[in-house]
Amino acid sequence: MSKPKAILLFGPPGAGKGTVGAKLTNVSGNYHLSTGDIFRGLPPESPNGKVFYSYANEGKLVPDDVTIEIFWRYMQGLIDTNKFDPSTQYIFLDGMPRTAEQAKILDQYVEVVKIISLKVTNDDEIVERLAKRAKIEKRADDADKSIVLNRLAQYREKTQVVLDHYDDAIISEFDAQKTPLEVFRNVLDGTLEVLNQSPAEA
Ligand code: ADP
Repeated sequence: MSKPKAILLFGPPGAGKGTVGAKLTNVSGNYHLSTGDIFRGLPPESPNGKVFYSYANEGKLVPDDVTIEIFWRYMQGLIDTNKFDPSTQYIFLDGMPRTAEQAKILDQYVEVVKIISLKVTNDDEIVERLAKRAKIEKRADDADKSIVLNRLAQYREKTQVVLDHYDDAIISEFDAQKTPLEVFRNVLDGTLEVLNQSPAEA
């Protein structure tokens, strides 16, 4: 069987990966998978839950081996239970890969056909967005400014280089400092060609 086809949602914390991913998969009938959501769904007292919170509470990335293991087990479960069908759907990966090593390993599991890169150039805007989200979603890692700044530093140090792993031809950049609707419209416009093809053709 061929590998599932993936579309990556890429960008700094608070860029709107989750928002765009949810809207886009909703209208296109594809599947949205956020590693942050998988981690937050782990029981906090379970071994993996404890590992997750010990890193996330400091704004650090979870180690690659644990991340990949949890991610792949979850994705396999989606396929086995028919929630995600790789023959008719793309998987939108939100928050994966986040390091060069994860990008390399991910190639064994999925074929990345498109990357939606959301650009936010203004750090103050990120801090402000996450402070707002902290109140709505009650996320401790969004509420604390020093954790947010750590996450931004990790993004710049470890995650930004992930794009170097891929062919420029599949990367589309979008200004994420516009209104949510404008960002959605632009991303839809920029990905329509791929989304109009079935995964088998892409
Ligand atoms: P955001 O994109 O706003 O930073 P996420 O919900 O994607 O938030 O991630 C929350 C936390 O989960 C991260 O700070 C990190 O600790 C952990 N995490 C999520 N995805 C990964 C990943 N691919 N590798 C390592 N850690 C991850």
